[in-house]
Amino acid sequence: MWEIAIERDQIPSKYHIFGYIQEDQRIIAKREMIFVNAGILYDRYLTKNDAVLLSLNESLSTITIKSIAMGYYENIKCGKCKHSFTGGYVKSNGFLKTYMGVPYVKCSNCGSVNRTSYKPYSTFHKIEKVYHWFSIVFRYTFWGVIFGFVVAVALHKFVLKDSNYLDATSYSIIVLIVIGMNIYAIRSERREIREVEEAYEAMT
Ligand SMILES: [Zn+2]
Repeated sequence: MWEIAIERDQIPSKYHIFGYIQEDQRIIAKREMIFVNAGILYDRYLTKNDAVLLSLNESLSTITIKSIAMGYYENIKCGKCKHSFTGGYVKSNGFLKTYMGVPYVKCSNCGSVNRTSYKPYSTFHKIEKVYHWFSIVFRYTFWGVIFGFVVAVALHKFVLKDSNYLDATSYSIIVLIVIGMNIYAIRSERREIREVEEAYEAMT
């Protein structure tokens, strides 16, 4: 059904709003177009979904605060009703931030469709893809070095009982922790990319 909706839309337009797939209320973005299935009834003609309110140019409003401990906190709100999508302030990556995510979300409070500042990985330009991975590897390497150094110092202080904090053992520990953390980060990022991609391509 979603395919028919897309095939019929040969004339370039920004929005295609329909309601004939009663059970499948959804919003998807495809070929620069937003498809909104705003159906509220299911096949027994009883109300199943809430109404969709497509308020044009409604963008999520994000308030970012920077805390002292190198942390960024964000509160992402609906542009229409100010309902918080994050449930207040949550920790986020303000440093080398990337914008991988779903481009549109429906507010669970007022039903309006909000444009996010994110987009799925498959629509990234080559340079954005490089930046995306650089951002992840850089961040995890940075924290890996710090964490590895703490572990190495602790090992020398409490186990080896010496003060050669920067010997070959320490370097090995740091390198292993950096590699381990990057493997973990790349794996979970690939899973996240896949999840966003599935949400984005939900129609097939
Ligand atoms: Zn809202």
